[in-house]
Amino acid sequence: MNKEYIVVGAGLAGGVIARNLAEAGNSVTIYEKRSHMAGNMYDFQMDGILVQKYGPHVFHTNDDNVYDFITHYCNPIPFKTKCEAVIDGISTPSPFNYKTIDQFFSKDDAIKLKKKLEKAYPGQKAVTVVEMLSAEDDDIKSYAEFLFEKDYKLYTAKQWEVDPSEIDPSVLKRVPILLSYRDTYFDDKYEFMPDRGFEFFYRELINHENIRLELSVDALQHIEFVEKHVLFDKRIVDVIYTGAIDELLSFKYGELPYRSLEFDFKRLECSSFQNTALVAYPQEVGFTRVTEYTKMPEQSANHTVVAYEIPRGFSATEANQTERYYPILTEDSMALYNKYHSCAQEYDNLILCGRLADFKYYNMDQVILRAMEISEEILNRKG
Ligand SMILES: Cc1cc2nc3c(=O)[nH]c(=O)nc-3n(C[C@H](O)[C@H](O)[C@H](O)COP(=O)(O)OP(=O)(O)OC[C@H]3O[C@@H](n4cnc5c(N)ncnc54)[C@H](O)[C@@H]3O)c2cc1C
Repeated sequence: MNKEYIVVGAGLAGGVIARNLAEAGNSVTIYEKRSHMAGNMYDFQMDGILVQKYGPHVFHTNDDNVYDFITHYCNPIPFKTKCEAVIDGISTPSPFNYKTIDQFFSKDDAIKLKKKLEKAYPGQKAVTVVEMLSAEDDDIKSYAEFLFEKDYKLYTAKQWEVDPSEIDPSVLKRVPILLSYRDTYFDDKYEFMPDRGFEFFYRELINHENIRLELSVDALQHIEFVEKHVLFDKRIVDVIYTGAIDELLSFKYGELPYRSLEFDFKRLECSSFQNTALVAYPQEVGFTRVTEYTKMPEQSANHTVVAYEIPRGFSATEANQTERYYPILTEDSMALYNKYHSCAQEYDNLILCGRLADFKYYNMDQVILRAMEISEEILNRKG
């Protein structure tokens, strides 16, 4: 055996690094504070339907290496995520596309508007609502205003818990409106679900004789900082930490801000509840989205299971703690993160990786790439 490593967190970042270190002949112990593995992509059976505890997850990537890595541990089921948004009682594709125009305009006006869009944005597959709001053409502009008032503004206000009047359209720069009838949520080269679910995929990922997993252990109870080293159970050993960076350093500069979510799961006695796996409800009060798990992927049953997505605040010190989901990225929060990051760098056997340690929103392919990069750094460093 080459060397011993401790990985904190049995999420995707921790699993990928553990596997790479183990393949190179090292011994790895993963400590996970939850009672299950797989981090936020964890899924489980509820009333005979595979559901995802921390929100809907689908693998999607343009990267061949990421695709090859994932499919080494599972068989991919090709999947196309579809989403709709209900506006004034009409369910329309999300991202909005030409069908949306057909649904909300008369036939002649719809033809006219689509022609105008093609002329204003020649050769473009998509345009943002922000661009459309500043269009010179009055019809394009008023369509953008309609979507902004009835969807973007309300959805964003609920998600981030701010008054709709405070939503500045410029925060919606990345939200596309499609200039076609494409009705899929992602447009990546690969999009798929693992054939036996995410937890099973993860089990395969860490299934290696050099990897040991300890569940329901809060690693912070075992970690202390002495001079320039991190000690785990009083021993100096390399620690790869994928939990929250502010928590690791005892919140010494204050809490990093996050938004949280609560998922209200319901069993419904019908075979289908909504048209697509994901539906956004911008005009409803109290929740933003509903995921129907019998459609993700297709699972046949006489009943269905849905999860209502309810935006929540997050505070690490609250008694009834929620999960950290979306980092709130502002100049102040980035400055705070940078302080924590510099502090963590003072410890020569501490390595950080993952959405919580890096204070970043990562898609799963991004976290795999980052974890591969970090694994290589660790292995080179050792050499
Ligand atoms: C609602 C939602 C939907 C998403 N959907 C998609 C999608 O469809 N496709 C996609 O590519 N990405 C999606 N993502 C992103 C995806 O969830 C992340 O990329 C992924 O979870 C990152 O993995 P990670 O290992 O960094 O973090 P995590 O999965 O959070 O793993 C970190 C682990 O560390 C553990 N931990 C923390 N502190 C300690 C401690 N002190 N001791 C022991 N263990 C500890 C935690 O319990 C956790 O299990 C979605 C995110 C959200 C919020």
